Amino acid sequence: DQSIADLDPDIAQVLDKELARQQRTLEMIASENFVPRAVLQAQGSVLTNKYAEGYPGRRYYGGCEEVDVAEQIAIDRAKELFGAEHANLQPHSGATANAAVMHALARPGDKLMGLSLAHGGHLTHGMKINFSGRLYDIVAYETEPETGQIDMAKVRELAVAEQPKVIVAGWSAYTRQLDFAAFREIADEVGAALWVDMAHFAGLVAAGLHPSPVPYADVVSTTIHKTIGGPRSGMILCKEKWAKKIDSAVFPGQQGGPLMHVIAAKAVALKVAATDEFKDRQARTLEGAKIIAERLQAKDARAAGVKVISGGTDVHLVLVDLVDSELDGQQAEDRLHEAGITVNRNAVPNDPRPPRVTSGLRIGTPALATRGFGAKEFTEVADVIALALTGGADLEALRARTAALAESKPLYPELQQY
Ligand code: PLP
Repeated sequence: DQSIADLDPDIAQVLDKELARQQRTLEMIASENFVPRAVLQAQGSVLTNKYAEGYPGRRYYGGCEEVDVAEQIAIDRAKELFGAEHANLQPHSGATANAAVMHALARPGDKLMGLSLAHGGHLTHGMKINFSGRLYDIVAYETEPETGQIDMAKVRELAVAEQPKVIVAGWSAYTRQLDFAAFREIADEVGAALWVDMAHFAGLVAAGLHPSPVPYADVVSTTIHKTIGGPRSGMILCKEKWAKKIDSAVFPGQQGGPLMHVIAAKAVALKVAATDEFKDRQARTLEGAKIIAERLQAKDARAAGVKVISGGTDVHLVLVDLVDSELDGQQAEDRLHEAGITVNRNAVPNDPRPPRVTSGLRIGTPALATRGFGAKEFTEVADVIALALTGGADLEALRARTAALAESKPLYPELQQY
């Protein structure tokens, strides 16, 4: 029985180099985070060997007595943490969770109304070549050009005119809180089911720092790996009346055997999410995003054509509009990369540049907050970002500043090379 270093040095080297990359650079992709070592342990465990089609106590395979315990703990923790009537922990990812939600709530050909991809919606909310756009009849609401925010009166108007079967509220790139009560009212008025995809802000909800959609929505889907900071995977919460439909939509509707190692890791992440330390981390996440939004609206940034969509943020990310900047999204992403900061370029609404280039950036704070960053470190990061985007310092000097920050908050100091 060989270690990975002996059996497969090529892959062992990738693991080592990726660990070093994560340790050395500042991770600011809004959808990423760092899992605790206990999550790595659960996810890299012998539970990966087990087939367990079905649900705890109702499996189609023998030998499930141990994994049953893990899945039941995960279910109970999810229900408790979010105050949900029912939880399904089996979705392999956010996208498969969403496919299962639509499978449960609608039939192919039914109408789904979601936030336009170009305005911050997700692929699974109706993009043409995604399963959602192929299987369902899509209508999209948008953000307002002046405010960068969703106007609920317009959402209502569209829903009344289009009579969708399902309304999805949720986003991948939006900087304000959604009005779940208003979405519920509109859904009731037109007889639609309300699905909230809280993939991005679930950690904030768990910490009580963002309104919870759970009381309002028929079904809530999420990923576990963004603000929650758990293993890459998904989860569905719902009202009891949807429980059977959701469970059978996940298995056997969309998936076969659940990934029991990942489910055990989800249980660990949900335990962490109930702690005061987690709350503190989510508070620092929000504080960091506000510091960055403010710095990017200072005089030098504005003079360089840098704008902050919606004029600030109430969540864990900042959306930068570079339409008036000399830098396009790709160039800005590359400059930050050279300065030691990883972000992703992001299209802005009505983006004049092509999708591979874009005129925007999405900058997130969850991973750095997990690393221990607070106001002091985020202020320094914000300054580095602003200088990189305005040409106010050479990238070599900025890289030295990010390296110092990375060293000041070591990541996975106890992890060995593979
Ligand atoms: N839903 C939203 C709102 C997302 O932002 C994402 C991921 O970016 C997903 C779903 C899909 O998650 P996954 O990448 O795990 O399929």
